[in-house]
Amino acid sequence: MRPHIIVNVAMSADGKLSTRERRQVKISGTQDFNRVDRLKAGSDAVMVGIGTVLADDPSLTVKAEECRNNRIQRGTDEQPIRIVVDSRARISPDASVFRKGSGKRVVAVSRKANPKKVEQLKKLATVIIAGEDTVDLLQLMEELGDMGIQRIMVEGGGTLIAGLIEQGLVDEIYSYIGNIIIGGRNAPTLADGEGFISESDFSRLTLLEYRKIETGILLHWNVEHPQ
Ligand code: NAP
Repeated sequence: MRPHIIVNVAMSADGKLSTRERRQVKISGTQDFNRVDRLKAGSDAVMVGIGTVLADDPSLTVKAEECRNNRIQRGTDEQPIRIVVDSRARISPDASVFRKGSGKRVVAVSRKANPKKVEQLKKLATVIIAGEDTVDLLQLMEELGDMGIQRIMVEGGGTLIAGLIEQGLVDEIYSYIGNIIIGGRNAPTLADGEGFISESDFSRLTLLEYRKIETGILLHWNVEHPQ
């Protein structure tokens, strides 16, 4: 069975995830950071696209000791499995996702990836080959499901999220909207990619919860899946 997918992002009041130069911006505060840490700790895996790895070099680790201890007590690894979607295997072996924290890593590549680089990555991670040009997200989710992964938190960026939404793979979205305007027509948003043209293709959401957190607001959406 394919995993349940929860997207979490922080965006500015004008819907941008970072600057037009793709520079990381502090959008939320400590309280929201702790919420995200708990969401991550409650997931089997955390996933990002290679664009986020190249821009931000995140470790994707659970930071709070209490959350990590809770995971160990539940009988899971201290850290969720960390997954990078990276068709051409562009990730550096020195990336923080490999260097920081314990636990399994997965790099999803396509058949376009350089075989030598794939061999190198196999020393650091489980490599899943899915798709010809870009990563076939449906096949990837099947394979992650077969690995026993039931719940994945996707931390961005907008290109990967758009790909997942287009394939009908996203189940829930948390978007924290902070009190800044970043601007820029080319700055990343929650769902970049090509975009839908026809209204019948739009992804439909149901608002489950809204909550003021510090100086912004958290929206929690359920994504409808037409039968
Ligand atoms: P991204 O979504 O992290 O990664 C996109 C890349 O994933 C694609 O360019 C593609 O590169 C690869 N990919 C492989 N198969 C794919 C598929 N089927 N569908 C979609 N993507 C696929 O990159 P991004 O859109 O450039 O976002 C990065 C920016 O978002 C950074 O500025 C970062 O700071 C920001 N960000 C913000 C937040 C937030 O919450 N505010 C969170 C995360 C990131 P290949 O073709 O090379 O594989």
